[in-house]
Amino acid sequence: MQFSQVIGQEELKKQLIQSAQNDKVSQAMLFLGPEGTGKLSMALAFAQYLNCENPGPEDSCGTCASCVKAKKLAHPDMFYTYPTVGARTLARSDIEKWRSFIAEDTYYTYPEWIAQLDNENKQGNITAEECNQIIRQHSLRHFEGKYKVQIIWGAEYLAKEGNRLLKLIEEPPANTVFILIAQAQEAILPTILSRTQLVKFSKLALEDITKQLQNQHQIESNDALRMAQIADGNWIEAKALIGQTANNYFEDFRQWLLFIIQQKSRPSLPFAQGLVNWTEQMGSSGRQNQKAFLQYALFFIREGLAAKNGLRSKLQPAEESVAIKMVDTITWEKMLKISQIINNLHYQIVRNANGKIAFLGASMKIKAL
Ligand SMILES: [Zn+2]
Repeated sequence: MQFSQVIGQEELKKQLIQSAQNDKVSQAMLFLGPEGTGKLSMALAFAQYLNCENPGPEDSCGTCASCVKAKKLAHPDMFYTYPTVGARTLARSDIEKWRSFIAEDTYYTYPEWIAQLDNENKQGNITAEECNQIIRQHSLRHFEGKYKVQIIWGAEYLAKEGNRLLKLIEEPPANTVFILIAQAQEAILPTILSRTQLVKFSKLALEDITKQLQNQHQIESNDALRMAQIADGNWIEAKALIGQTANNYFEDFRQWLLFIIQQKSRPSLPFAQGLVNWTEQMGSSGRQNQKAFLQYALFFIREGLAAKNGLRSKLQPAEESVAIKMVDTITWEKMLKISQIINNLHYQIVRNANGKIAFLGASMKIKAL
């Protein structure tokens, strides 16, 4: 992975490269920021840069022996920890899966990774055994690169076990760099927070996502801009929208809520046929389409609330007038609750839940509101 493959975040790239050039690399860093902002990609690019045999002013060379190994995630001085599930308590038991996962792309949510490991909705974990393994692998001095790098993706999953790593993080062996990656600061042990240098990632700029969609995915400029607006600074969301531009999510979403609301006037029916048909159709339309639809729904509510508040929204005029009417009818508070229900539904879909059942369940929750 090279810096050129990391989307946007130019300022952070510069800072990291400078720290390497000036021999002032922080030995324990926490890459913290929202989903889809490139924290893992940046960590991989930085690890490769640190050990590159011919590092340039802006990037690793990409071709030296060290870069080639780093690219394959097979460098002997680079270690990866990520959540595992069930009895497989060590990250290295799943290293082959991790390699093929990362070979395809480096922008993922945690649930997407955990779904690779397990279909039964198990909880991901970074275990005590894994922490002990980290300690062991960093007590060995011998290495071939300039730096030993330990990446911990999903530091939230460390929970209390993270305390085992305190001493190591506080006084890492020479030329060892720890990069912890997390989205939620409140889920990180304060003892870890206080021992790491915070590297804050912001949402990606609208232009960076738009450009990436245009240049790497040949998407026409208006569509690219629209998708970037819905994605709201999150590349993982932008990716999910690729190939879905022909769908009319506005109409789908309006129809869905109408079916749910109309239920009220016909309480004798157990569940309106229209709604059943709608969820059947959505439920069998493929996961990618479902995710994109739900992202649109969240965007619509977010922007609708902004418009209602007198702010400039990113909705088109026809959408905006419906959104404002919707907030007026359903109320602000309930719109927020609907957006939470949709957020949970999105999580279920990512975790491979049955689409029809999940959409029907969410419909009933919205109806109950
Ligand atoms: Zn190189």
